[in-house]
Amino acid sequence: MGTDPLMNLHNHTQYSDGWHTPEEVVQRAWQGGLRQVAITDHLMTSKVPRPLTSDGFERYRRNLLALKEMYSGRMQVLAGVEIDSNPERCDLEALPFDQINRLDLVLFEYVQDRQHGGASIKELAPIFERIKVPIGLCHWDVDRIFEDNRPEEVAELLASHGLFVEVSTSDFYRRDGKPFFVLGERFFRQFGGKVRLSIGTDMHRRLDEVVNIRSGQEFVRRLALQDMMLY
Ligand SMILES: [Zn+2]
Repeated sequence: MGTDPLMNLHNHTQYSDGWHTPEEVVQRAWQGGLRQVAITDHLMTSKVPRPLTSDGFERYRRNLLALKEMYSGRMQVLAGVEIDSNPERCDLEALPFDQINRLDLVLFEYVQDRQHGGASIKELAPIFERIKVPIGLCHWDVDRIFEDNRPEEVAELLASHGLFVEVSTSDFYRRDGKPFFVLGERFFRQFGGKVRLSIGTDMHRRLDEVVNIRSGQEFVRRLALQDMMLY
């Protein structure tokens, strides 16, 4: 923390809808000079045809653990999952919490996003309570979702649930040609001292996307939020 953020905490593999193996993703991260890389496959959502399930979970976790050991001392390999907060696509009550709590982090997508049917932070609070590892809100269009709220209130709300927010550098998460984090700058400015951050690219297909973090790094630096990074 406090140094230049060199992380990508959002990558998919063949364990859900990604094209590559965890080995390939992690190797690309190492070649690209990242300090932290997380694998975060989709867990139990009907949004993707073959999500990770509780049956495949241990194999997934052990695979990532082996990579963590292989890169130990060189780069931090982190094990996570991405959870769909739309209750029609993901049975949130049925999530394997014991297994989830053996990971390093969890990402939630579409939180409080009506356009995507995502449950609100308030509705998710009992689910968040059962998760003991860091919880992040990924590719989050905070500027649209909280357009009627003051950024200070949103920062307080996130802080009260201990949630971190992803700076998503994926080309997919843009509106009016601008990344969500740029549109949400007035919110991110209020996160200082309160809400932790990550950088993620939501890599699925192109291995070069593993290291496509520069715009996020520059944003964090410009807002002097290096101390707020999760790692
Ligand atoms: Zn994702």
